[in-house]
Order: sequence, then structure tokens, then C-alpha cells
Amino acid sequence: MPVHLVEHPLVQDTLLVLRSVETSTDVFRRMATRISVLLAAEALRDLPTAPASVQSPIAVAHGRRVNADVVVVPVLRAGLGMLDAVLELIPAARVGHIGLQRDEMTAVASQYYAKFPANLDRSFVLMIDPMLATGGSAVAALEVLERAGARDVRIVCIVAAPEGIAVVERRFPDVRIYTPVIDEGLNDRKYIVPGLGDFGDRLYGTL
Ligand code: URA
Repeated sequence: MPVHLVEHPLVQDTLLVLRSVETSTDVFRRMATRISVLLAAEALRDLPTAPASVQSPIAVAHGRRVNADVVVVPVLRAGLGMLDAVLELIPAARVGHIGLQRDEMTAVASQYYAKFPANLDRSFVLMIDPMLATGGSAVAALEVLERAGARDVRIVCIVAAPEGIAVVERRFPDVRIYTPVIDEGLNDRKYIVPGLGDFGDRLYGTL
């Protein structure tokens, strides 16, 4: 099942704050970070680890350390609102960027920027894009990643529409999608209903 619904109570609580039209830009930013940390942790639940030991003040303690190369790829611009949260969890992660612009009339995404670290084929790639709406930008971004050599890609989003999930599933059946919710659908302007409005505008105060 490529869709992983993240039902953690803190995720659901934070999502409601993000959805509210009453939420100010500064609170929206803080909540975007909070929910992204929780979602990213879930998306990286199966990261490989290797045995390791440290000396505690009392004795040697045996444990495990993350033993994987993680590449985080925010889809510009809204995905940047989730980046700091992921880097808080994995400070050593490398970062790629994909710039896609959505035509407001047709909702078709076109790429204007892409830059990735080397060896994507050996990395866990976490693509972060908060709104999975039509699926057009997600598929466009996944195709860019595929051409760049990425093999293990997970998408982390904050709200998903059934239309977007279906489009991604059809073209990339192996890509796992982590989301707290699947909303009702899209309106005639291709916004998610009930959604939370335009994520980038709310994050950057460009309404
Ligand atoms: N992008 C957004 O920011 N919001 C939507 O509802 C759909 C796409």
C-alpha cells in the first residue's frame, strides 16, 4: 500500500491549526515545522542502522546509529517550509532542490530548476511537498528524480487529495506517500477541499 496515513494525535492536532483561516503566518510556520518533524520521522522509520557503543557516565552502552545516506528534496517553494524540520532530525542529510511552477489556469507544472547531490541511486530520497493536489507536480518532480538516478523515493506531504494520490500511484506504484490525511478532492481551481489554502502563500505571507 503506497499511502501511509500518519494518524499520530500530535500530527492531527497540528494539521487542524494549519487548516484554520485564523492561523497567522508565524504560527503557521511553527506548525509546519512541527508536523514535518513528525511526518519525516514516520517516513524514515525503516532507515537502516548499525550497531554502535558509547561510554555513558556509568558503563558502556550498546545501541544503534543511523547508517544511511539521506537526501531531502524540497519541491520549491512550498517544500522549503518543511526542510528545516527534516534537517533537525537528520543534520547530515544532503539536500537537492526541484523548482516547479504551477500554471494558475491549467495547474500544469513546469520545471525551472533542479540540482541534486551525487549518488542519488544509493540514497534514501525524501521528497517534501506539502500539498499533493492534482499530482501533476509530484509526478513531474518524481520524473526529474528518476532521470537523476533516484531509486528509493518517499513523498512526505501535509494534505493529499485522492486525485493526486491516484496520479502518483499510476505512474510510480512503488513510491510511498506519507500524509496525515486524504481530503475530499479538488475544487475547480485545483485547490484541495477543505485543504488549508495556498501553503506557500500562508507560509510566506504572500496572500
Ligand atoms: N497547492 C496549495 O498550496 N494548496 C492547494 O490546495 C493545492 C495546491
